[in-house]
Amino acid sequence: MNNDFQGIIANDELCSYFATAIKSGSLSHAYILHGARGTGKHTLALLLAAALNCENKGDSHSSIPCRECNSCKKIFGKISPDVTLVSREDDRATLGIAPIRKIREDVTFFPIDGAYKVYIIEDAHTMTTQAQNALLLTLEEPPSYAIFILLCEDTESLLETIKSRAPILRMKTPSEDQTVAFLKENHPPARTFINTSPDEFKQIYKASKGSIGRILELIGSTEKKQILQNRSLVEQLMKAIADHSLATRFSEINSMFAQKREDRDKLISQLCEIQSAVRDLMVLKKADEPQMIFFTDVEYAEELSYSFSTQKLTQIYESAEKARIALLRNANVKLTVVNFLSGLI
Ligand SMILES: [Zn+2]
Repeated sequence: MNNDFQGIIANDELCSYFATAIKSGSLSHAYILHGARGTGKHTLALLLAAALNCENKGDSHSSIPCRECNSCKKIFGKISPDVTLVSREDDRATLGIAPIRKIREDVTFFPIDGAYKVYIIEDAHTMTTQAQNALLLTLEEPPSYAIFILLCEDTESLLETIKSRAPILRMKTPSEDQTVAFLKENHPPARTFINTSPDEFKQIYKASKGSIGRILELIGSTEKKQILQNRSLVEQLMKAIADHSLATRFSEINSMFAQKREDRDKLISQLCEIQSAVRDLMVLKKADEPQMIFFTDVEYAEELSYSFSTQKLTQIYESAEKARIALLRNANVKLTVVNFLSGLI
């Protein structure tokens, strides 16, 4: 069994690619690691940074990174002066030029502890063109000790000139079974949760869109309860529309939705969950082996989908979209719910 890059699941090929590159010294100065949120891009980048500077990387009996040497400990403890994490400033939608300028200055200094200086650029797909051009200047003539790891959810917004200088590596999303096995083995609180509340875990798994980072964040948080309530609300609403009981259950279902002015975001996420459920029912009508993003029980969802015409599903989806947009434009929360539900009777 390969013990290199432990902690990454569903991406054995990528891990052995990096292990080979490090052991043989055939490294590129930059890598673009892309994949959905929560696939482990950040973890892999940190493992790569540790492996590059691991004091035991030349030892063929040791896995890389060894996690035990001084360098590994510092890197995993996030106190290594040689590893820099670059991220967007709070509340900014884009990664601007300022942090990239800092890299350009910093990269001129030799590494302090290890052999490499590693720059991990998070959300690289949000870099402005100006920031990308500034980074490009460094990528064109990088010092021998510098390695840049660009993490992104998609590569479309990256300049061709950046892409031509860095191998683009795709991270695969682990399956539900792989995720469960990984969590059970590595995270005791998650293991307890999976064993004691398997149904709730399935709900949290769906709500997290398979992101392991998000699942771990939710287990034990107060947000978990809210998410489970939202999902139950969506299921009840869809059932009420399907069996034509929405008119008689109107006030009951209405009261499950967010009502207060300050709960605007909560209502927006409820509407988004409704759209995910509708999307599943639409896909079930068309595809042979559909991937569900909301429903945990495919057979139940399939049966439910028979109660809806495609036209009705489109109407629900569009009504939710209209309500969501109205809320973004500051519409009254309570009225928006009433209007939305009235339109579905
Ligand atoms: Zn080490």
